[in-house]
Amino acid sequence: MHLKIPILTYHSLHAPGHDYHTNDHVALEADLELIRELGFTPISLQAVADWLNPASTCTLNQGHYIGISFDDGCDHDFYDFSYPGIPTLISFYNLLLSNNSKYADAPPLKATSFVIASPQARDILDKACIAGRDQWRDCWWKEADQSGIIQIANHSWDHTHPELDFVAQHTQTKGNFYCIDNRHDADMQILQAEWYIRHKLGNRSAGLFAYPYGHVNTFLSQQYFPNHADTFTGAFGTGGQYVTQSTDCWNIPRFVCGDHWNSPGELKVILQGALNS
Ligand SMILES: [Zn+2]
Repeated sequence: MHLKIPILTYHSLHAPGHDYHTNDHVALEADLELIRELGFTPISLQAVADWLNPASTCTLNQGHYIGISFDDGCDHDFYDFSYPGIPTLISFYNLLLSNNSKYADAPPLKATSFVIASPQARDILDKACIAGRDQWRDCWWKEADQSGIIQIANHSWDHTHPELDFVAQHTQTKGNFYCIDNRHDADMQILQAEWYIRHKLGNRSAGLFAYPYGHVNTFLSQQYFPNHADTFTGAFGTGGQYVTQSTDCWNIPRFVCGDHWNSPGELKVILQGALNS
């Protein structure tokens, strides 16, 4: 029997509506119930990377594991949000906590938040992509990281986000991470972010990276990350595949809510594919 591990990804920023399709918080709450119903064992993304990394001797017992991750790192990963006239948005962290207390006899669900590091970029994106209410901060990272429920990891310096006037990429190519194909831009996007995040966490690091837009190129996955294996153990894309023993630790696929599934029924198909391995 070969392990097939699904890793699910959600965006706390994606909450324009109040139902499963239009709000990743509603989707996550329902999906956590489904994960419990199907009897999955939670696994941290760090453990998945350790299992795949050739430098590690970590092994995994037989079982049905599942990983959970959150991308972009706006405040709603950790803090609830209330605003007059709309229902309170329950944070991903609080959804995990309440599910864990409901299933107190089962192993706790955990997740990794991949955050955009640059404070200047987050400040601009908070105004351009949300409502300019200062909801894309880093004040919660350390508390989250020490909670044992959410681990903070690296989702680049500025995501080469198209709403930014200036990005850390030498030709100012935006909305694309394939163009981080040289040492200088990779140092600016990946290492600079890593040092900033470590500083904020009190010198802790998950040693994990998630490619913005899921854009994985051969320079990063076959040269840059292998050359920085003292700093990182795994890098995650959005390939929509299960993780298996033969997965490349520098291109670990994930399933994205809204892209790879749009309903509890569609997620159930994905999860049952892992149970049938
Ligand atoms: Zn992203």
